[in-house]
Amino acid sequence: MPVHYDYIAIGGGSGGLASAQRAADYGARVALIEPGRLGGTCVNVGCVPKKIMWTAASLAHGLADAAGYGFDVTVAGHDWARLKAARDAYVARLNGIYAANLEKRRVTWVRGAARFVDEHTIAVGEEVLTAPHIVIATGGRPALPAIPGAELGLSSDGFFELGTRPARVAIVGSGYIAAELAGVFAALGSRVSSFVRHERLLRNFDVMLSAALAREMAASGIELVTHAVPAALARAGDGLELQLADGRAFGDYDCVLWAIGRTPASAALALERAGVKCYDDGVVIADKYQNTNVPGVYAIGDVTGREPLTPVAIAAGRRLADRLFGGQGERHLDYELVPTVVFSHPPIGSVGLTEAAARELHGEAVRTYTAGFVPMYHALTEAKHRVEMKLVCVGPEERVVGLHAIGHGVDEILQGFAVAIRMGARKRDLDDTVAIHPTVAEELVTMR
Ligand code: FAD
Ligand code: NDP
Repeated sequence: MPVHYDYIAIGGGSGGLASAQRAADYGARVALIEPGRLGGTCVNVGCVPKKIMWTAASLAHGLADAAGYGFDVTVAGHDWARLKAARDAYVARLNGIYAANLEKRRVTWVRGAARFVDEHTIAVGEEVLTAPHIVIATGGRPALPAIPGAELGLSSDGFFELGTRPARVAIVGSGYIAAELAGVFAALGSRVSSFVRHERLLRNFDVMLSAALAREMAASGIELVTHAVPAALARAGDGLELQLADGRAFGDYDCVLWAIGRTPASAALALERAGVKCYDDGVVIADKYQNTNVPGVYAIGDVTGREPLTPVAIAAGRRLADRLFGGQGERHLDYELVPTVVFSHPPIGSVGLTEAAARELHGEAVRTYTAGFVPMYHALTEAKHRVEMKLVCVGPEERVVGLHAIGHGVDEILQGFAVAIRMGARKRDLDDTVAIHPTVAEELVTMR
């Protein structure tokens, strides 16, 4: 006997949870389907455990910096297994909080994997659920390269299972995860090599950021191997050897980490039964209102392939519920000017157009302002990590269309500037704002 709901969310990650709970707040009868732990990628194998590892790595840098400020610090070592146990316990607490929140809002958690029967009917094992509104929020999984020996390497999911710190690590990939985990491993004592297919990491970011990060990585002993297209991974002696398409071979590693992007989790949903269209790579096609091509079926978050970030999945999910159950007919997410931070060491913050993208769109009307300096934090430390900043402005009014920065504190600085840029801030508005001294942030309102 099918159980009827007003709304079904498939996937208990960032997007599904947010959308289901917002719909329930409006009084809808909601089911959320999730086979695994609540919280999805972000809470279990993404943002949350990653940020804990980033903090551990930042503390390692801080301990090294402390001597300059007069501390006599002797560090007897770092216990990776203890850190992992504490991190896992923290995540388990969050899983519990999510379950309690669903219960509080009377959202029914159906444990299992969903598949479509038709556009309004979902099967989970033997259970059958129906609803006039169904949202697909199944996220994605780490991609592995289609090369011999790929299974000998780890994905980011495997990274979070590591019980001890590998001494020699190779990281393959050029995006967020490669940049972030290289910094974590290096700070905690591993010898790291980073393999990128082209000439730089973070190719989708402003070139200034890639260049500055490459310098920082080199300074912290990370080897950067460019034009490195992986061809095979093989056991060699007691380690792993990474073989490249151009014949070069690198080894021997205790751990090879694939960080080459993610694949949408849509294959198991039997979308064809509902007639929902995907691109060839499994991305579910959704318009700006998160509508798929099938009325009553929606898609949000990573599975839609747009800005795969937690706050984006949450915002799209909440707005969809506002539109369907909150009487806000036009409510939808604006995907422009989404701010983002790469938790590298040091961190990177970026919002809006890169200089190259702005020049392509606006040509000669683009003007940039840059600043580069050693922040006061490093006044007395032996290591000197620079801050680099860039503002991208357009037109006679010098509207700010992009802000890119790397260095101490930029991860926390970006959010407020993103608000100003969304509101249409001009360079003059930044100039007219009185600086806060002495901070890193003040440089953004004093650029000439
Ligand atoms: P997910 O969170 O992936 O949730 C999807 C859920 O659907 C999963 O729980 C899955 O089990 C479930 N599911 C799949 N198939 C089915 C099915 N058939 N039936 C029922 N349920 C199903 N983003 C940030 O903003 N900041 C960060 O610092 C950050 N760090 C990250 C670090 C790492 C290592 C990774 C991998 C990602 C990181 N992200 C970060 C990205 C972020 O985790 C994702 O953008 C976010 O989790 C997407 O949410 P979602 O709801 O679309 O999907
Ligand atoms: P990304 O999409 O960030 O980067 C992966 C990169 O790896 C590609 O852009 C490509 O770069 C390179 N690549 C692709 N295929 C191959 C291959 N076969 N061999 C070698 N290199 C390859 O993916 P990630 O896995 O790092 O992260 C997944 C997503 O999760 C991110 O896009 C991001 O949205 C999210 N995330 C967000 C974080 C945050 O907000 N701080 C942190 C971590 C993840 P190129 O073309 O230059 O070779």
